[in-house]
Amino acid sequence: MRVSKRRFVQTLGAVAATAPFASRGASAREVRRRRFDLLVIGAGTAGLPAAIFAAKRGASVLVIDAAAQIGGTLLLSSGQLSAAGTRLQREKGISDSPLEHFDDLMRISRGTIDPVIARLAVDHAAATFDWLMEQGYPVLPDYPVDGVAHEPYSKPRYYWSERRGIAVLDAMRPGFSQAMAAGRIELLLEHRAVALQLDHSGAVSGVAVEDSGGTRSELAARNVLIATGGYASNAALFEKLSGMPKFLDSSYPFAQGDGLALAESAGGYIHGAEKYLTNYGVILASYDVPTSQLARANFYPQRRPPWEIHVNAHAQRFVREDVPSVDAREQALRFQPLKRHWVVFDQAVVEQAPPLIEGWTSEDMLDAFDGDLACFYRADSIEALARAAGLPERALVATLDAYNYGVHTGNDFLGRKHLPCKLVKPPFYAIRHQGTSITSTAGIAVNERLQVVRRDGSAVRNLYAAGEILGSGATQGQAFCGGMMVTPAITFGRLLGQQLIYLSQ
Ligand SMILES: Cc1cc2nc3c(=O)[nH]c(=O)nc-3n(C[C@H](O)[C@H](O)[C@H](O)COP(=O)(O)OP(=O)(O)OC[C@H]3O[C@@H](n4cnc5c(N)ncnc54)[C@H](O)[C@@H]3O)c2cc1C
Repeated sequence: MRVSKRRFVQTLGAVAATAPFASRGASAREVRRRRFDLLVIGAGTAGLPAAIFAAKRGASVLVIDAAAQIGGTLLLSSGQLSAAGTRLQREKGISDSPLEHFDDLMRISRGTIDPVIARLAVDHAAATFDWLMEQGYPVLPDYPVDGVAHEPYSKPRYYWSERRGIAVLDAMRPGFSQAMAAGRIELLLEHRAVALQLDHSGAVSGVAVEDSGGTRSELAARNVLIATGGYASNAALFEKLSGMPKFLDSSYPFAQGDGLALAESAGGYIHGAEKYLTNYGVILASYDVPTSQLARANFYPQRRPPWEIHVNAHAQRFVREDVPSVDAREQALRFQPLKRHWVVFDQAVVEQAPPLIEGWTSEDMLDAFDGDLACFYRADSIEALARAAGLPERALVATLDAYNYGVHTGNDFLGRKHLPCKLVKPPFYAIRHQGTSITSTAGIAVNERLQVVRRDGSAVRNLYAAGEILGSGATQGQAFCGGMMVTPAITFGRLLGQQLIYLSQ
């Protein structure tokens, strides 16, 4: 049953009065003396629902987090969700099912998802989304849609809120606070899990934590859930597992990959690194990386047909710039050196084309060429442009000649349809774009019960993992499937919270 607006507001009021999250909750000394049914490492997207649902089933739960607040990556995330067979879809007359969602994931990822884990996610996604709606999740009125930034689904099953990830977090806060107020959940903030404790049989029996002053405590639990997120803020580990530098600094700072090391110490292993994929390029604020994203060009031909060409580090075109599929562009970039491309155009494009960069006018863009920003290059000849942008001169000249010949004959060699003008009028321009990823592709292997497993397939007793620690490759494969990180994280947390104490008996 849907929670009425009045009751929801009352609930929020009660929560604010009883359990502010700025407080540390319990002290390590208090919780050290107890043995909890469930210890959740990470009060984020997966950890919060795990705690809420375990507490609902009567478990005693301890949640620890290295940060000074709950929320994890939800504090930054776009928070797009996807689920099939939801109540909202039925209300809007959309017929959909988890199987169709699964088939779409297989299609978009070309069979690279983990079928067991992705199936578990989509089978239970609708119940997750319905629950978030009951908790007051404010979905935008025109949703669900079939896609926003990523390859579209075949059905509208993509949900979003104006307040992005924060809206998801706000929907979970009341349940978490109420369970804290009822003494079912203890929360220990600013405590980092540094080791797992194993008994003589190799089963996990607790977690060693350190506070910000380095004081160590040992906490006992019957079950431990690692919900520490990924490793996308750990530049060294990111580069080791992706084979690519960490270009963007916009991941959650506590996503340091701690959980992977913890799981490995108990016998678990990391897999899926080969599924690494970047989004199509963005403009970086600086050559020194990690750095922030300065701006993003509009590469969706449905919204703005391209007037420019895209070249790789060899100054060669590598993609039909007006290909409608987002995934086709991302896959084409996957095979280019350093996943980098330059958008090249001339003065005629500046004068005639609609603005290239999202949120910028054409004048804003020209200002960027006038200033000392990284990644913007302008020159009076193609050869000089190539030198400024670090591209091979003769290759860039040849590429522009070939493109202009295609415009002249109406027969582009890559099959591009939108050929508005030759690129011949100086000055010439180039903007360097970088393919980036802000999430973790590789992850800890788990079985269908989300138990951490060893290479021989046996489960490490009492140890579970959920969320980005499983790697984006599990639920998205080598593709970007909308909403398929936040929704699975919440779903797996919820499922574990509901079932964990029974599974382990
Ligand atoms: C900018 C951005 C936009 C995104 N947009 C989308 C989107 O639209 N849709 C989508 O599906 N996905 C999106 N993602 C990915 C998605 O948000 C994350 O994969 C997901 O929120 C991660 O959930 P989690 O529970 O695994 O980790 P988190 O939510 O990060 O929670 C992990 C928690 O563990 C804590 N922690 C870490 N190490 C320790 C330790 N040693 N001891 C104690 N605590 C620890 C952290 O402080 C954190 O609170 C986005 C990611 C980013 C960065």
